[in-house]
Amino acid sequence: MTVDSLYEKFNLIQFGEMPEDHLRSVCEHYFPIINEIEELKKQTNTIVLAHSYVKSNIIYAVADYVGDSYELSKNARDADEKRIIFAAVRFMGETAKILSPDKEVLIPGTDPACSLADSITAEDVRKLKKENPGYAFLCYINTNADVKAECDACVTSSNVYNIVEKYPSDKIYFVPDKLMGQNVIDEMEKRGVKKDIKVWNGTCYVHEEYDASLVDALREKYKDLSVLVHPECGPSVLEKADFVGSTSQLYNFVKHQKDGHFLMLTECGLISRIEAELPGRKFVGSCSLCKYMKSNTLEGILRVLKNPTPSDYVQIDIGVQDRALKCINRMFEIAES
Ligand code: SF4
Repeated sequence: MTVDSLYEKFNLIQFGEMPEDHLRSVCEHYFPIINEIEELKKQTNTIVLAHSYVKSNIIYAVADYVGDSYELSKNARDADEKRIIFAAVRFMGETAKILSPDKEVLIPGTDPACSLADSITAEDVRKLKKENPGYAFLCYINTNADVKAECDACVTSSNVYNIVEKYPSDKIYFVPDKLMGQNVIDEMEKRGVKKDIKVWNGTCYVHEEYDASLVDALREKYKDLSVLVHPECGPSVLEKADFVGSTSQLYNFVKHQKDGHFLMLTECGLISRIEAELPGRKFVGSCSLCKYMKSNTLEGILRVLKNPTPSDYVQIDIGVQDRALKCINRMFEIAES
């Protein structure tokens, strides 16, 4: 990586980041930090994982792997390195730690929260279980470890419909995303699957913002528009989608379709990535930023490499870790059944 190659990448990005962040002078400013990070990674046997929603300078300058939370957790598990810096949010670092309990996982973000994961606590789930006997509790992967530990199985945005359909119970309590939960109810109806499904009241503040009227207005203007939507958006938006999928599925959809215009309703970072990696795709409309993901910076990564504090490490009670792992493994068993 050179200043020129980083600058060339940034020049391709129109969506999601301020143009002034991509000036050549900014690339030059960051280069000593980038070099120091690379040197320290080697010295400390560390890899950096970056979620698609974090800033481009992390993705293109220091990340060893880029993807969605679940893909990255598998990269963490399979890596030889024993130390992982996970540029994302806390629950994602926890998932990596659950899958790789013998590794150190550090979170560099200054505000690694998540409006969705933090909408429900383990105590909430214990209370719901008492109030709803006979229900199987399924949680979205965007939950904290102690919530996973209370649930029967986990789902990701790419397998949620199939897991709910296949789960051997007619009564499902889905947590924490009320919009994804409503989308699950609608999809089960379409599939003719009769299940009693209750949902918790959490939302992702980024995806709930998208409005169906934006889709209508842009369809009017661009006759060749493909509308691509993440399942954390609301049902009125999903209804108008040409394709619904996880961040990886959305990326792959655009990879295989070069022509036309795209409206992609998810966090801006994914659009920036596609612009930089699949040049020539034409995006329209707008997108929203996740302030939690954007709290990851190159300076933060350097700091946790040099002087990590105890709170930078993901630490999970061993009993919680084991039960959360069972919840994740149950997802695999059902997916493969
Ligand atoms: S985009 Fe939404 S679900 Fe993802 S980390 Fe941000 S608040 Fe949480």
